[in-house]
Amino acid sequence: MRRCPLCHSDKTTRFYTDKKRCLYHCQLCQLVFADANSHLPPTAEQQKYRLATSKHKPLARFMLDLITQCEDGQTPLLGLSFGRTIDTHTLQKITAKGHRLNQYDPSIAPWSRQLKQEYDFICCYRVFEHFRFPYREWALLCELIKPGGWIAICTPLLSELSAFDKWHHKNNLTHVSFYQRQTFEYLANKVGFKLLFAANDLILVQKPSESDITRDQTSVVAGA
Ligand SMILES: [Zn+2]
Repeated sequence: MRRCPLCHSDKTTRFYTDKKRCLYHCQLCQLVFADANSHLPPTAEQQKYRLATSKHKPLARFMLDLITQCEDGQTPLLGLSFGRTIDTHTLQKITAKGHRLNQYDPSIAPWSRQLKQEYDFICCYRVFEHFRFPYREWALLCELIKPGGWIAICTPLLSELSAFDKWHHKNNLTHVSFYQRQTFEYLANKVGFKLLFAANDLILVQKPSESDITRDQTSVVAGA
């Protein structure tokens, strides 16, 4: 039995084993996670991670689409690229529109206090699967996003537990946390965020704005 690194439940079962590692399934939040004993040493993890970063040109497209969706035509946005850095050319495009983007890549620099601000949007492109302690990262993201702001997550969604042995994402040893739709439903419900499943492993989560919260409270009072 292993404690779930996302919801901390003890209701986990050994789910899949191959030559390299053992994976567990949490019955509460439905996360599938790798046994911590099989995590790669930090240097090997960073090498593989950096290699993957250099291949991720779609990140730029993902980021620009996200900004277009968040733009309201007037307000400059403050965004955060969480877990990966984008190329200089794309960054210039974003600043030319009047927006600002902070970037955090654990393979380049550790998390810094200067990054601890409130953001209009946060982009998490192919990073959730690398989280060894997803509880911690999720809590941080919830704190960093402004009321009304969006967190855009791109991670391979695990749709069929029964087909896990054929699912290629499990073969990358830097992938240690796998999420199902129910996992995101669990997370969004817990903090009262709005959840949307868009196409191609894209998950959008919105923190309620202050006016939403006031409205909810008013309706509770009105209904009481
Ligand atoms: Zn769990």
